[in-house]
Amino acid sequence: DLTRRVRPGPPDELGQLTVTFNEMLGRLQRAWASQQRFVEDASHELRAPMTVLRGNLDLLRQYPRMDAAERAEVVADMDRETWRLSRLIEDLLLLAQREQDAPPPREGVSLREVAQAAAQDAQKLSPAHDVTLHLQPAGDPLTVPGHRDEVQQLLLILLDNAVKYSPGGTRVGVRVQGQPGSVQVDVEDQGGGIAAEDLPHIFHRFYRADPARQRQGGTGLGLAIAQLIASRHGAALFVARTGPSGTVFRVTFPLSGGTPLEPRPEGHAG
Ligand code: ADP
Repeated sequence: DLTRRVRPGPPDELGQLTVTFNEMLGRLQRAWASQQRFVEDASHELRAPMTVLRGNLDLLRQYPRMDAAERAEVVADMDRETWRLSRLIEDLLLLAQREQDAPPPREGVSLREVAQAAAQDAQKLSPAHDVTLHLQPAGDPLTVPGHRDEVQQLLLILLDNAVKYSPGGTRVGVRVQGQPGSVQVDVEDQGGGIAAEDLPHIFHRFYRADPARQRQGGTGLGLAIAQLIASRHGAALFVARTGPSGTVFRVTFPLSGGTPLEPRPEGHAG
């Protein structure tokens, strides 16, 4: 029973121990509650596309003589929901895995290379946007300790959002800047920005600001994954600026130090 607490004693060593013990219990309770909420949210998110799939399957069974156009629409709808379901499952697995895994050994990651690759991917993802890359100082590899694949994934999440939440024909910029003690990466877009009331929640799992976009393939897990990767690098990830003319997400990687990454336990795979 996590609700049972030890009654505080006199302000001696035992009393101090009691305080510490109660604090630990409190933390455990909060972690447990957040885990429960996560499972509830995940189930809810998984149920939504399943409901659509089942409904459409029923339609197809009930109306075998549905005309071709209608049928195509129902199938397209199922296709979309299946895709959404698999993205959701992939993101959930990734999040669970990254949360459990000890970070892989650090290597030197050139943010110059990673940003270049991520910008190219983003350009392919959305030819309608003009994706630009700025590196400063220009010739520098801008190397930080980390895990290349994770860093690339983090940048891709930010770029994917920048493209998703801004109209075609606008510019999406990646700006990598060497600073004393850190390398700073800005991902800028010219979209409509994030409302002040949404801002405190966007890094939470499953939070999506605009309900109208919920059907647009987003899982609401992107920024939670990005934040997890940042923390595994001792990096800070936050919204540096947002308004009606666009948003800047900033991630600052420490050149050294940061949160020291734990060594990988013996026999740990992946
Ligand atoms: P999603 O799968 O919905 O994109 P994310 O966790 O990546 O989930 O983002 C959470 C929410 O934050 C989004 O639904 C969107 O409302 C908001 N958001 C993220 N990036 C941007 C951006 N560049 N411009 C405007 N809103 C954004």
